[in-house]
Amino acid sequence: HQSKLPNVGTTIFTVMSALANEYKALNLSQGFPNYPSSQRLNDLVTNAMNNGYNQYAPMAGNLDLRFAISNKYQLLYNSTYHPEKEITVTAGATQGIYTIVSAFIRPKDEVIIFKPAYDCYQPAIELNGGKTIAIQLSAPDYKVDWNEVASHISSKTKMIIINTPHNPSGTIWTKNDMLQLQKLTRGTNIIVLSDEVYEHIIFDNEQHQSVCLFEDLKQRSFITASFGKTFHNTGWKVGYCCAPEHLMVEFRKVHQFNVFSVNHPMQKGIADYMQDSGTYLDLNTFFQQKRDLFLSLISESRFKFKPSKGTYFQVLDYSDITDEHDVDFAKRLTKDYQLASIPLSVFNEKDKDDNVLRFCFAKTDETLIKASEILCRI
Ligand code: PMP
Ligand code: GLN
Repeated sequence: HQSKLPNVGTTIFTVMSALANEYKALNLSQGFPNYPSSQRLNDLVTNAMNNGYNQYAPMAGNLDLRFAISNKYQLLYNSTYHPEKEITVTAGATQGIYTIVSAFIRPKDEVIIFKPAYDCYQPAIELNGGKTIAIQLSAPDYKVDWNEVASHISSKTKMIIINTPHNPSGTIWTKNDMLQLQKLTRGTNIIVLSDEVYEHIIFDNEQHQSVCLFEDLKQRSFITASFGKTFHNTGWKVGYCCAPEHLMVEFRKVHQFNVFSVNHPMQKGIADYMQDSGTYLDLNTFFQQKRDLFLSLISESRFKFKPSKGTYFQVLDYSDITDEHDVDFAKRLTKDYQLASIPLSVFNEKDKDDNVLRFCFAKTDETLIKASEILCRI
């Protein structure tokens, strides 16, 4: 048989985590916390299991959770998403993204993405017969040239996928970026898929620029989000998406047949947890302290960096150390120094190599201290 994804191998996250295990390395590669999620949240999930939430959740998600999500948008962004019609709970952001793409992309439709890009976008586009139009951004600022974006938009453009705060670079989009996007898509049928999984992890008093803050943009956009990032439990795989009703109707036609519904006790536990105010509002401070600790400890190393502005990732430039290809260097660090990271070239167009690696700082201070000691020895 002929592969539908001839150029796709095993995702780098699986590859690097396996290598980290094999060499007993500190794993700062795949993005996940190495400390527990909240005991209260765990207890609320247990309560849900003990109180009968063990059968199928409603197709679009537990209603308490959809109300809690709706309240969050009202509170943080003064933006209304109707809990019954405009919010759907997904099995992580990954399923939300795949479902959005498959609900709208037909063969030959063009989808614009910005590289480096999170690795699930392009396979989703291609499995649905779409054509990826990649706009390569450059280290260290990864700034968008909006004239370049304009030059790629045509009647074939069906969707634009954006991601701020950005994995893997740790950069964020400004209000001006969003206004430019709004201007370019106004009057078109283009759908915007806004991957906002790191919305609550943004530093130095910057504001997250959600598509829902821009009324025109909001009308054509899906937001995808992930509780794994917000509540430190990536293994639970619960997320959601929001969109205006006319888009959500199409999303649910697909969602009902590729997952139907998402595990119920987790949803109910998260819904109850979200009743506690401020459960995500202090995430910025929590992760900013981790970023600052990590960066202060490696300030004397030979790695160069610009502090991450959002996400729990820090990109380090190793061009003063070696000109090895980033995949080779990441593997060598794992094997010889017991420290695993993610090479950025795998997210770039034509595997462009800028000699940078991504390190996840969602780790205990003890792990960050050990990792920095290694980085200072290299
Ligand atoms: N988008 C981005 C940018 C991510 O970093 C991740 C998780 N690494 C996802 C989507 C997927 O989220 P989930 O684990 O909830 O499927
Ligand atoms: N989103 C995580 C990261 O960027 C990994 C998720 C996964 O392993 N698929 O590291």
